[in-house]
Amino acid sequence: MLPVTEAQAIVLEHTRPLPPRDVLLSAAALGLVLAKDVASDIDMPPFDKALMDGYAVRAQDLQEGRGVLHVIEEITAGQSPQLALAAGQAARIMTGAPIPQGADAVIVVERTRLLDGNRVQIDDKPPRPGQNILGRAREMRRGETVLRAGAVLQPQHFGVLATVGRGSVAVHPAPEVAILPTGDEIVEVNETPRPGQIRNGNSFLLLAQVARAGGVPRQLGIAPDRLDALRALAARGLDSDVLVLSGGVSAGKLDLVPGVLQELGVKAHFHKVEMKPGKPLFFGTRDKTLVFGLPGNPVSSLVCFELFVRPALGKLKALADPGPHLVQAELVEDFPHKTDRPTYHPAVLTSGQDGWQVRPVPWFGSSDLRGLLPANAFVLLPAGEHQHRAGQRFPVLVADMEAVSFAH
Ligand code: AMP
Ligand code: MG
Repeated sequence: MLPVTEAQAIVLEHTRPLPPRDVLLSAAALGLVLAKDVASDIDMPPFDKALMDGYAVRAQDLQEGRGVLHVIEEITAGQSPQLALAAGQAARIMTGAPIPQGADAVIVVERTRLLDGNRVQIDDKPPRPGQNILGRAREMRRGETVLRAGAVLQPQHFGVLATVGRGSVAVHPAPEVAILPTGDEIVEVNETPRPGQIRNGNSFLLLAQVARAGGVPRQLGIAPDRLDALRALAARGLDSDVLVLSGGVSAGKLDLVPGVLQELGVKAHFHKVEMKPGKPLFFGTRDKTLVFGLPGNPVSSLVCFELFVRPALGKLKALADPGPHLVQAELVEDFPHKTDRPTYHPAVLTSGQDGWQVRPVPWFGSSDLRGLLPANAFVLLPAGEHQHRAGQRFPVLVADMEAVSFAH
């Protein structure tokens, strides 16, 4: 059977970054990857700028650090200085305001005392020319490249893009992911299941996973285990960048998904991976659309998404390292474990004083999504019967970085 790492390599081989598109600098652009270099259209700062509240002075007037200067004006941010400083003069100045001509240092206000209307006493060290001033264009020069293609747009990138006048940018867009749950037994969330039925938990599980991975979820409704209906809904999903089906990929009589996908022209690249949960995973492509048939059991679906779909979405978004990201963590307690395939066991990962630590949570297997609720990660345990000991180290797949607690 195909090992996980080989299956992941096959998925990424068939995945190409989406072609660039201009998007508005809005919340939806957070985490997207810049597709073109961006140059500044201005000098920043656009003028020599005060970095502190205080007095703009001529350093040569204060060679001892102390003295009384004549205050000729007050300059707040947004104003232009009206006067040039002559010998013995100072200007009251606020952070962000332009330095007046003639001045070459700013004395912080805490080192000054206003004597009367327009005289200020300075009591400081001798000022260094340039002190508390940021020179024009020190941050960026007009025409200079300030962001490179490949940058992952974070808040600081938004700030810089806005500063250089870019209200929209060329990025690799967020992939659209169609979600298609299958199964005669699956009913909508607002229905009361009759005997033999279960509610459609997976669509919501997948919706959240897609959103977390930076994709745009598209719900297709529930497909029954009937060829015609399944074919029609799956065909619709093939318009998206990615089609994710849930259920119907195992070896049961009504596991129709692989056959229907083949009829629709989807080329199968693998079906079955050496892992637990999630063995029956299917992966294929039609043109540029990636198609994942996830097993219906919710934990299988979740684990397969994290191991295969999330990295694919990362590569579609043009992330340099789409993952998945595993860390090496120390087991915090003995854990006897027997399994016939490498197993991703739900666990709590914490960041301890001496590195990552992991504790498996009680769990009843691939249908037990409830058991997963306290977990934020999966510890990868090898096939076979083992007496795993506290202190041994194992790879851990981090699912919810935001749910990891850090030692202080
Ligand atoms: P299957 O892979 O189609 O054999 O489905 C395996 C099991 O997963 C089913 O018996 C259901 O209990 C569960 N399952 C399948 N689809 C869903 C779904 N959309 N939401 C919740 N559970 C599901
Ligand atoms: Mg089914």
